[in-house]
Amino acid sequence: MEKRDLCELNMQELEALMKEWGQPKFRAGQIYAWLHRQTVESFDEMKNIPKDLNRRLEEAFRITVMNAEEVLISAIDGTRKYVFALWDGNVIEAVLMKYHHGNSVCISSQVGCRMGCRFCASTLDGCVRNLSAAEMLAEVYRIGRDCGERISNVVIMGSGEPMDNYEEVVRFLKMITDADGLNISARNITLSTCGIVPGILKLAEEGLPVTLALSLHAPSQKKREEIMPIAKKYELGEVLAACRQYYRKTGRRISFEYSVVKGVNDSPEEAKALSELLGGFAKGHRGGREGAFHVNLIPVNPIEERNYESPDPAALNRFRAVLENHGINVTVRREMGRDIHSACGQLRRRYSRHAGTGTD
Ligand code: SAH
Repeated sequence: MEKRDLCELNMQELEALMKEWGQPKFRAGQIYAWLHRQTVESFDEMKNIPKDLNRRLEEAFRITVMNAEEVLISAIDGTRKYVFALWDGNVIEAVLMKYHHGNSVCISSQVGCRMGCRFCASTLDGCVRNLSAAEMLAEVYRIGRDCGERISNVVIMGSGEPMDNYEEVVRFLKMITDADGLNISARNITLSTCGIVPGILKLAEEGLPVTLALSLHAPSQKKREEIMPIAKKYELGEVLAACRQYYRKTGRRISFEYSVVKGVNDSPEEAKALSELLGGFAKGHRGGREGAFHVNLIPVNPIEERNYESPDPAALNRFRAVLENHGINVTVRREMGRDIHSACGQLRRRYSRHAGTGTD
C-alpha cells in the first residue's frame, strides 16, 4: 500500500500522532515547521528530530516531491513553466510568474479535467485523478525552492476543476494560509471555477476569504452551454446568485473570466449583453460595480484540436471599450512567457505524447 504523505497532516493531526507515539508535543511543531516552512524534501533534512523518531516517520510516511521533468524559462519575463512527474507516473504542469508585486504560482488541482470546456487542452483526455493536498503543496514548495524567493500569490488555474476535488483543495488552502506554514494570505490566493454551484456556496462558509474567479465566457445561457458543457448542469442565473452569495459572505471582489474567441463570443452585442448581465449582478451592493467584481478578458490561446481562434486586436479593444463605457472594471490578461507558449494543459499533453504515456 502507498504510504500516506506526512505533509497531509495538519498540526492537530501531527500532535495527535506524537501523543500516540509517546513523543513530546513540541515535536509536532518542529516537524510541521520543517515540512511547511523550510519545505524540506527528505526526512534527513529534519535536523533536530531524534534519529529513531525520524526513522519511524520514514517507515510510516512519505514526503511528496515534485520531480521536474522539464522547466521552460521565458527569456522575456522570467516566467517558468514546469512539467512535474508524480509518484504514479502521471504528469502535471505548474507555472511561476514574476510580477512587480511578487511571485505568483499557478497550480494544477487534478491530472486532466472532466469539465469539457471547448477551448481547453486540459480536458481533452478527461480527468485521470485528483491531486492530493500534499501534491498541491508540493507544487508550490518545489517552485519556491527552485526560484529561491518567497511565493506571495497562488492561483488555482492550472489543469483541473478545483471544485471537483473540493476536500483536498480546501485542505490545501488551509495549510498554505497557515501561520505556521508558508502563511500566504488568503487575499493573495485565487481559485478559478467553471461554476460548480454547491462548491461555491460551501467555500463561502469556510472562513477562507480567497478570491473567486468565475469562468463565465458568455453572456447568455445558450452561448455558455455551447462553450462549456457544465453550464447545462448549473444554469447561469444560479451561478451568478452563488457568486453574489460568495461576495456577501467573504467581501471578496469576484473576478469574472471571459476567454474571448474570434467570431464566437467577441461581438459588441455580446459585450453589451455582458455589461447588462453584470450590471444586474452589482445592483444593490455596498461597493457598487467597482467593489463587487471585475472582468478579466483572456484572448483565447488556440489549441490544435479545436478551430477556435484568438480575437482580432480591434475586436478585443472594442469589446473592452463597451464594458468600460458601462462603468465596468476590465483587465486583459497579459500573456506571460510568450516565447515558451503552451497554456492550460498544452505543455502536459505535448510532454505526455512525446514520452509515450499519453492516450493518443
Ligand atoms: N477549471 C477552472 C480552472 C481552469 S483554467 C475553471 O474553469 O475556471 C483558468 C481559466 O483559463 C479558465 O477561465 C479557463 O476557462 C481558461 N482557459 C482554459 N484554456 C484556455 C485557452 N486555451 N485559452 C484561453 N483561456 C483558457
